[in-house]
Amino acid sequence: MAKSAPGKHYRKGLTLTALFDKFPDDKTAEAWFAAQRWGGNITCPHCGCDNVQTGAAHKTMPYRCRAADCRKRFSTKTGTVLEASNIGCRLWAIAIYLVLTNLKGISSMKLHRDLGVTQSTAWFMLHRIREAFANGPDTLFMGPVEVDETYVDGKAKNIPLRDRKRRITGRGGVDKAIVVGVLDRPTGQVVAGPVHHTTSRTLVGIVHSVTDDGAQVYSDEHRSYRPLASLGYCREAVMHSAAEYVRGDIHTNSIESLWSMFKRGYVGAYHHMSRAHLGRYVNEFAGRHNVREMGTPQQMAAVVGDMVGKRLRYDNLVAVGPVGTVAEPDRSEPW
Ligand SMILES: [Zn+2]
Repeated sequence: MAKSAPGKHYRKGLTLTALFDKFPDDKTAEAWFAAQRWGGNITCPHCGCDNVQTGAAHKTMPYRCRAADCRKRFSTKTGTVLEASNIGCRLWAIAIYLVLTNLKGISSMKLHRDLGVTQSTAWFMLHRIREAFANGPDTLFMGPVEVDETYVDGKAKNIPLRDRKRRITGRGGVDKAIVVGVLDRPTGQVVAGPVHHTTSRTLVGIVHSVTDDGAQVYSDEHRSYRPLASLGYCREAVMHSAAEYVRGDIHTNSIESLWSMFKRGYVGAYHHMSRAHLGRYVNEFAGRHNVREMGTPQQMAAVVGDMVGKRLRYDNLVAVGPVGTVAEPDRSEPW
């Protein structure tokens, strides 16, 4: 797949006026959501039956399952991150558009003003859209992959590399959130999320969990990546401590460009990302990165497709505690 930046000529954009023409009202927007979700073959989200009555006389649940042992009503939002939302499909479509087209993100204050909803509603809407972006790769990355960590809250680049590990793991008293990402160069796809440690167990585990055995891996010289070699990966590192950033193919520039966009969003749009929700912010930037070669209408359709089968309750969202941390690897851990 050809690498390219957003805005290249073959990407099909969507202007604001075209967006409003496409979604003149909730009814049209709802039909669009249904088409993206079911592609014309409406299926009951409760039992999977496709014998469905449409146009049922119900205010919010226009579909009803005809299966004798189910008979449940549902809407296009049932069984998705939009479940139980009172916000109409038109505003949801516009919000999805704004999240996709603002490459540095959009604050809840801005969305609140743009859509005329309360700021807390806008905040919840944004987190639901971020949840839709939460996806692992469909298949293992074949590589070459780039792996890199970045540090949030404060200026990690001001910390000498030799001090980073000591300070960031808390022994030096600098408490930063750590985000790790793995980017597959051939497909340009990335997986990223917050982690608690930069130990080998964590960093090698993440590479191993998403990357095919024996793949080429590029990283910086962080010691924790060393056991990759014993797992059969061909790992090569650039020596950032020696001011070396590129040696032929050996670099982490692609994943670093994602970090740079993430930090521009942090400074320019969000100003602060709570630790509890950091994983969802990372999802947002990784998700936008992963669809960047699609046209805007196609991106919107992809987000709606990824909303299905997920659920985000407000109660859970405001509960204290870190979420969205990259799952510990489930492949064998022989190191
Ligand atoms: Zn059913």
